[in-house]
Amino acid sequence: MATIIDGKAIAAKLRGEIRAGVEELKARGITPGLAVVLVGDDPASRVYVSMKEKACAEAGIYSDEHKLPADTSEETLLTLIEQLNNDERIDGILVQLPLPEQIDESKILEAISPAKDVDGFHPYNVGRLATGSPLFQPCTPYGVMKMLEEIGCDLQGKEVVVVGRSNIVGKPVALMCLARHATVTLCHSRTRDLAEVVGRADVVIAAVGRPELIRGEWIKPGAVVIDVGVNRVGEKKLVGDVEFEAAGKRASAITPVPGGVGPMTITMLLFNTLESARRRAARG
Ligand code: NDP
Repeated sequence: MATIIDGKAIAAKLRGEIRAGVEELKARGITPGLAVVLVGDDPASRVYVSMKEKACAEAGIYSDEHKLPADTSEETLLTLIEQLNNDERIDGILVQLPLPEQIDESKILEAISPAKDVDGFHPYNVGRLATGSPLFQPCTPYGVMKMLEEIGCDLQGKEVVVVGRSNIVGKPVALMCLARHATVTLCHSRTRDLAEVVGRADVVIAAVGRPELIRGEWIKPGAVVIDVGVNRVGEKKLVGDVEFEAAGKRASAITPVPGGVGPMTITMLLFNTLESARRRAARG
């Protein structure tokens, strides 16, 4: 039976380190600041934003919340971003996605200063990651990397199979694994014989959004399995993209859903904000 990778415990440990880092900066007169921008009243987005604010408060990070109505124009949002880009108290700017349809998402993401882009979605930061000199790395995939590090999983020379090629998880996590010298295969909906490809992996990273698509019997004995997927089945139950019980009988380590990758995402947002504030401190 696989070791269960406890995302909550890893996140709690990291958050303790972040809190200590924030204290250290505060003692030098610098309070890390995160601006959180929410446009409209999508219930899921509201929940994410309040979780982020709560996490900032617990870490000692100043959070500056901007809640704008659903009919906000692109111009108004761009003006706010410009103000935040120039606001010295703000080290990170987070615009909660998705945005209402009258606003061009890529235009907004590109307006955020790359030096405050703690979500790592600006094309400049995507390019920095792709060329092997990252400035800010997107939070969910970065959290996956921290988990692998925490369990002592050295990726050098390993076969990593990533399932899912989104810009927010699949592609960046593949680049991060490549930077750690893994041999990486990136799968998607047109991949032929997914079972065979997954069966070769020393490390499987699933980010698909299809409940239990990855069958336990596909997993190579001893593989490490990281499940990013969060799928609601029925009223209350959440399951991942991997058939957890069956995969757990073959894997050496596996993340549960919930309680695996989930708690790492906001943790890495705090981590990136602290990192940005440290850069401000170094600039003097
Ligand atoms: P997207 O919907 O953007 O991407 C899904 C990817 O899966 C696509 O590349 C798609 O391929 C691929 N795919 C779909 N069906 C199949 C299939 N049958 N076989 C192989 N590949 C397939 O999803 P996200 O990356 O945004 O999210 C993935 C999951 O991770 C979701 O469950 C989401 O909720 C979760 N998530 C969790 C986070 C956390 O904090 N824990 C944060 C972000 C996401 P194609 O490109 O060909 O369409």
